[in-house]
Amino acid sequence: AATVLTIGEILVEIMATTPGEGFGEPQPLVGPFPSGAPAIFIDQVSRLGTPAAIVSRVGDDDFGRLNLNRLRADGVDVSGIEVAAGETTGSAFVRYRPDGSRAFVFNIAHSATGRLSLTPSAEALIERCDHLHIMGSALSAPGIAHLAREAVRRVKARGGSLSFDPNLRPEILQAPGLPEALDEVLAQCDVFLPSGEEIFLFTESKDEAAAVTELLQRGIGTVVIKRGNQGASRFDQHGRIDAAALTVDEVDPTGAGDCFAGAYVSFWLAGADPETTLRYANAAGAHAVTKLGPMEGAATLSGLNALLAAQNGKDP
Ligand code: ATP
Repeated sequence: AATVLTIGEILVEIMATTPGEGFGEPQPLVGPFPSGAPAIFIDQVSRLGTPAAIVSRVGDDDFGRLNLNRLRADGVDVSGIEVAAGETTGSAFVRYRPDGSRAFVFNIAHSATGRLSLTPSAEALIERCDHLHIMGSALSAPGIAHLAREAVRRVKARGGSLSFDPNLRPEILQAPGLPEALDEVLAQCDVFLPSGEEIFLFTESKDEAAAVTELLQRGIGTVVIKRGNQGASRFDQHGRIDAAALTVDEVDPTGAGDCFAGAYVSFWLAGADPETTLRYANAAGAHAVTKLGPMEGAATLSGLNALLAAQNGKDP
């Protein structure tokens, strides 16, 4: 089976247990949970039985070990995760505001992940993988961007495929060199996975259908738009397919997009048809929001089948 590789940050997430504006007063917390968008993505790929590996870097501390142990237990090849002595693994404190948006305190600027380099193990994985998945966060961090761009060039040059999830949070949009990096990766990507309005950051047009046409004309094979609790849509030269959101109890939306992308890439690489691929990706996103903790909702195939079967039972 095809091997999927991703590159990027690993951190832990610690969550407030009550809604509020932030962390300005002592309050009950839960966690740490394994996190980092690329880590969530690759965990989902592996839980679906697709060979999966990640190039990253953690500190020699409990937060790093928490992540390593989880990824290893879920079958991810962790040979490309460097454990950096004397450095720390990043963390993010997250609190949901009453309006549903999220307040963050990040401790990642000086984390071990920021000093990724092309180690022999990373190089071996880049040479061996069939598919590479890149996220916007990897392109905005100076210590990761050069490696991510080099990996894109190498994997594409030898015929591998590339998916790209921009995942651009406001705080990373100002990163130096980000526009060039985004353009370079977008130009080579086979599957582009923006969420909602994010697509307009990459197009002249501010109308969705026209924006999609613009991207397909630039040579992107497939555009998949994630729409949160409104489901998802997939576009290629042959047209459009929509998936209505499944009805689930949303406990924690963090990680939905990463699980969606992980399932999409797994099914696509396994040769599933477009409808099936979108249906399972949509189900993986829905499954992800039902669990507290960003990576806790990554589903197995039987979990997705059970969720889809239960939904069919709900149809009139
Ligand atoms: P994040 O950055 O938090 O991981 P995202 O913005 O990349 O998320 P979303 O659009 O929020 O991604 O979610 C991805 C997919 O997950 C959606 O397209 C949909 O298929 C599914 N999904 C998300 N939220 C829900 C929900 N409340 N109910 C059902 N499905 C959902």
